[in-house]
Amino acid sequence: MLYFALSLGVLLGPLGCYASAGPSACSNITSLLGSPKVNSHKLSLKYHKSTEYWSTPQDAYKPSCIVYPESAHDVSVALQAIRAADSRFAVKGGGHNPNTFFSSVDQGVLIDLSSLSEKSYDPDTMLATYQPGGVFGDIYDYFIKYNRTVVGARLSGVGTGLALGGGMSYLSPQYGMACDSFRELEIVLPDGQIVTASNTTNPDLFFASRGGGGNAYGVVTKYTVQSRPAGQFFAGIRIHAFPHKDTIIEAIGNFIRYNTDPKASIIGTYEKLPTPDLNLNIDEAIIMFLVYDGPDPGDAFANFTSVPHLIDTTGIKTYPEVADMPVSFATEASRGNNMFRVGVHRADNEEYKHALEVWRKWAESNKGKYSLLSLDFQPVPKSLTDASKAQGGNAMQMPDGPWFWLNYLLTTPPGMSKSDYNAIQASFRDMVSSTSNAEGLPLFINDANRDQHPLSTFSTYEKLQEIKKRYDPDNFFANKTGGWSFD
Ligand SMILES: Cc1cc2nc3c(=O)[nH]c(=O)nc-3n(C[C@H](O)[C@H](O)[C@H](O)COP(=O)(O)OP(=O)(O)OC[C@H]3O[C@@H](n4cnc5c(N)ncnc54)[C@H](O)[C@@H]3O)c2cc1C
Repeated sequence: MLYFALSLGVLLGPLGCYASAGPSACSNITSLLGSPKVNSHKLSLKYHKSTEYWSTPQDAYKPSCIVYPESAHDVSVALQAIRAADSRFAVKGGGHNPNTFFSSVDQGVLIDLSSLSEKSYDPDTMLATYQPGGVFGDIYDYFIKYNRTVVGARLSGVGTGLALGGGMSYLSPQYGMACDSFRELEIVLPDGQIVTASNTTNPDLFFASRGGGGNAYGVVTKYTVQSRPAGQFFAGIRIHAFPHKDTIIEAIGNFIRYNTDPKASIIGTYEKLPTPDLNLNIDEAIIMFLVYDGPDPGDAFANFTSVPHLIDTTGIKTYPEVADMPVSFATEASRGNNMFRVGVHRADNEEYKHALEVWRKWAESNKGKYSLLSLDFQPVPKSLTDASKAQGGNAMQMPDGPWFWLNYLLTTPPGMSKSDYNAIQASFRDMVSSTSNAEGLPLFINDANRDQHPLSTFSTYEKLQEIKKRYDPDNFFANKTGGWSFD
């Protein structure tokens, strides 16, 4: 490996004199990997597709080229060429992280993982492998032929970077976070070495990669995970008019505190639309996602199903159908000028109700400044944290449930001036932070804004900082690509 690095250095050394690091890196990656794996044609459809993001302002960035690795070796070659040219870069899974430059780059090299899409299933060990390209819907569709699935996104259109940030699934109350099911990872380190990380090989790297965030310790090119059975699910959404908001928040609180059946999973979302209010409540709704692993939920959802509803789609579904609720194109349809923020609250006090009140008041007084607002209540039951611990725990070392994460989404309308945009983002930030987060609980990386510094809320933060130093000693990833800060 050292020889490989040195010979690349000799080959690429003279390139330091080029004015533009991105094009230098690109031309060398092209000569090393061949032109079919590199695309610099900014007007091509393929380039356009690769630079589409869930948070659309990032679509405007124009990488010098896009690399489509087909193996860990290709990723290694690309990283070493990028390093030698001193270029910026980004690693893109599904492109859903709304934080700018986490998976997007302007003028540097974009490593688009979409061509790494192999999957396999071993019926003896029940281990599943998947590469990071594509979205969870593709992965669910593949494993369902074996009546199996993996713990992954609740929506089919989300990419595999989700698992590196922990990964909350409808199956999490039974099996823990997506990362808790990792058994082995193939990782290309910042210096280009290709290594395995597991409980026995590079265990520190394995620990950090289980929920410590993508784009920090290297590029994961293969996930080996414990697969899970996937038979019939009782699942669907129920939409309620907003006057039921207090009954529903009470039911969510009770579910978090008292539900003891780990097969039952919910996410409760409060939505606010830009349409005029007119005191008719047509600009707001509550969407409850109810999912039970099995055909009969018993009375697990009774507190929700007793509330009058406008729409009810519950019924028997396959797992891929569950991930397509409410509609298969939900992820795509929600593209826009999106930003996330996260809160964390214990279930044994009223702070989460306070969060709902504060959010609603803000929504009312900022009409016209958003095209969509939502507040999602995501339970972290004790069964989830127990399942995580039973598998060795993850980088969050999640304290015992029940508690829950709140995901705040702000979508701003197109065409907003920069100053109006900055003002609404600042006001939204202040609104979220005016509800105190519970002490001692981690903020969820996957839902966090970069300025919330979620890693620093982990009890393991110092350990993660050490691991980061060990695997990225010269700060190549820290300086040349986006991602969570370890400072
Ligand atoms: C519509 C929607 C639904 C969501 N639903 C859920 C949900 O159910 N559960 C949940 O936990 N989260 C959910 N999220 C949050 C989601 O987990 C994060 O947005 C996550 O970052 C998305 O991963 P991605 O691969 O799509 O995005 P990307 O932006 O491509 O990747 C996210 C980060 O990980 C890095 N990364 C990606 N792949 C790799 C890799 N192989 N090696 C190293 N670094 C990598 C990227 O560089 C980037 O920094 C949802 C988000 C959206 C927009």
